[in-house]
Amino acid sequence: MVTAIGGPRVLLRQLRETMAEPLASQERLDKIVDLIAENMRADVCSFYVLRDDSALELFATHGLRRDAVHITTLRLGEGLVGLIAAEAEPLSLQNAPEHPSFAYRPETGEDPFFSFLGVPVLRAGQTLGVLVVQNSERRVYGEDETEALLTTATLMAEMISTADFDSLVKPGSDIDLRRPRMFEGIGFSEGIALGQVVLHDPRVIVTNFVADDTDAEKLKLDEALKTMRVSIDELLNSGDMQIQSDHREILESYRMFAHDRGWVRRLEEAIDSGLTAEAAVERVQNDTRARMLRQTDPYIRERLHDLDDLANRLLRILIGKSTGLGKELPENAVLVARNMGPADLLEYDRTKLRAVVLEDGAATAHVAIVARSVGLVAVGQAENIVSMSEAGDDIIVDGFSGAVHLRPTPDIEATYIDKVRLSAKRRAHYAALRDTLPITRDGTRITLLHNSGLLADMPALEETGADGVGLFRTELQFMIASKMPRVKDQVELYSEALRLAGGKPIVFRLLDIGGDKVVPYMRSQAEENPAMGWRSLRLALDRPALLRTQVRALLQASAGLPLKLLVPMVTETVEFLKVKRFILREVERLPRLGIAPPTTLEIGAMIEVPSLLFELDHLLPETDFISIGSNDLIQFLTAADRANPRVARNYDAIGRPRLRALKLIVDAAAKFGKPVTMCGELAGRPVEALALLSIGMTRLSMGASSIGPIKEMVLGLDLAALRAEMNHYLENGETDGSAREVLTEFAERHSIAV
Ligand code: PEP
Ligand code: MG
Repeated sequence: MVTAIGGPRVLLRQLRETMAEPLASQERLDKIVDLIAENMRADVCSFYVLRDDSALELFATHGLRRDAVHITTLRLGEGLVGLIAAEAEPLSLQNAPEHPSFAYRPETGEDPFFSFLGVPVLRAGQTLGVLVVQNSERRVYGEDETEALLTTATLMAEMISTADFDSLVKPGSDIDLRRPRMFEGIGFSEGIALGQVVLHDPRVIVTNFVADDTDAEKLKLDEALKTMRVSIDELLNSGDMQIQSDHREILESYRMFAHDRGWVRRLEEAIDSGLTAEAAVERVQNDTRARMLRQTDPYIRERLHDLDDLANRLLRILIGKSTGLGKELPENAVLVARNMGPADLLEYDRTKLRAVVLEDGAATAHVAIVARSVGLVAVGQAENIVSMSEAGDDIIVDGFSGAVHLRPTPDIEATYIDKVRLSAKRRAHYAALRDTLPITRDGTRITLLHNSGLLADMPALEETGADGVGLFRTELQFMIASKMPRVKDQVELYSEALRLAGGKPIVFRLLDIGGDKVVPYMRSQAEENPAMGWRSLRLALDRPALLRTQVRALLQASAGLPLKLLVPMVTETVEFLKVKRFILREVERLPRLGIAPPTTLEIGAMIEVPSLLFELDHLLPETDFISIGSNDLIQFLTAADRANPRVARNYDAIGRPRLRALKLIVDAAAKFGKPVTMCGELAGRPVEALALLSIGMTRLSMGASSIGPIKEMVLGLDLAALRAEMNHYLENGETDGSAREVLTEFAERHSIAV
């Protein structure tokens, strides 16, 4: 075994000095490979850079032919170097030419060298290049040598990401880590936003890499680990509902990792090789990210993500930085996050926020609904965007197509500025339809309503000319408050909403909290399946004081006005009757309080739990109206979690079984003469809205931005023809054709904009 001269720490110091020297990029690289070769007693040290076109280009070498530099290239996955880059794993071989992936490149003159050690150069989970040492004797590289080369690679990664390689790079190639990137996500909330990245949970940038005192760094790491473990234990024991529900599992795995010997050992080894504590965390984190990006198993990927988050926490403790919440936002802020709850989103200053981009999420998750409700452009499933963005980066979010452009080129930017103008035109076109009533070509008046929940949404009612608010999600107010809103606060909110509605009706939905709608000041038990757990009406019936406060506030706010109340998550008629009696008791006490009762009171039930479908004949005589929550109803009908992108899109919401279920509700409501409204997200999408109209629904509630497109669709529609075709399809149609195809084809044939 060959011992390195002076060991890795000396090498790191020499490299640091070299990086500070005023050298041209190529000269600096040449010197670096010389230093590595000398220090590691290697005959060869080569550095390959992964270009934008996925070719690995030889950028510098000690020991191979210098004239092969910038000539020799290997594709990703080709040869040993390509393999290391693709797998993001080190590779150590005694006899390299024997390896099945070995690719001979005569111009390099590498014939005499048998033993081979290569490591990936990683940053933020991305492979930037490959660093290789070779020797002519057939030898085994020790673990300490692999470790030393990995540490060196960490420093090289930092250098590449900040260096100016322009003078070295051939036209067309690009090694800039901060190059423009495009992510293909899924549009959650329509619109186009141009702005600057704000990381919801910012990554910490390490600047101090080389340790002066290894023992001191180990102590620092030890202290930071202790602080982190204590803080995780505190969070887990806090009894906070938010933590107990969605974050508990994450925190449990954090705790497991925080005590994981293997992880701590890897961190210590990295410090032993000469890095500072924070650089050691960064290096180990880089390996984790690289593994994460290659993982296809979602469970393992999720766990690696957790480890990545944990490393970030540790880095923050080491560097003494806090989280990003509460900080100043730039004027056109675009929030980038792995995922977040609706309450997290509402904590930001909405006057400066333009868009939100998530790595995870699903369109019917509440964070997406909240984004739509407050008029934010939103895109989800933009894979790896968090690790590739930095705070302040320019970003364009296209909520129509789901595309996200990070650090866009000027031509992309120009295109989008055009699109914004165009969408302004489209908005102007829809605005011109404001006073046109939504009547189909064959004369059916369709009622178009808004979904809202915050006062900020209310002025849109005037702009779209909609008929009223079909769903006012009262819980949003509870989610943004830091403590439970008192009767007085609630009265103010509801009165203001009614005033802003200017006489148009509002359907106030009673509190629908729990599940992913977390209210920070309420404690509860952790639940295995929060969406099917203690939420909504179940919680309200168990906490009558909460329900009473809200009902009283709503009654006071609508003194002398009509009032419409909607009861969410009704599972059985008896539950509805309980709430109805509860409300009526509150109405009875109004005269004693000297408060005028509402002029009319209508109490409706939401149909979002399938069991209610089999009791409609009992429910309908008791309700004044019903409203279908397609988001929950469809998730429960299909047993597919609305917030889980892996399954949420497996079943088309307007597939035949779902449409038949919806039709069953509509027919029953007609039989009992009760109005039925669709208030889930379905109604806001033209093809879906066509499906709803086709089964007899005429009242649709949706996000304000959908009113224009849906109205346009309604204006061009021959409803009788549509119903005839769809009835045929639902009863007799081919089993393999989808309702979506039938509807799209109908729309095309009738030139209807969908
Ligand atoms: C629904 O479930 O469709 C609905 C409207 O309620 P929410 O999305 O708020 O759960
Ligand atoms: Mg619901």
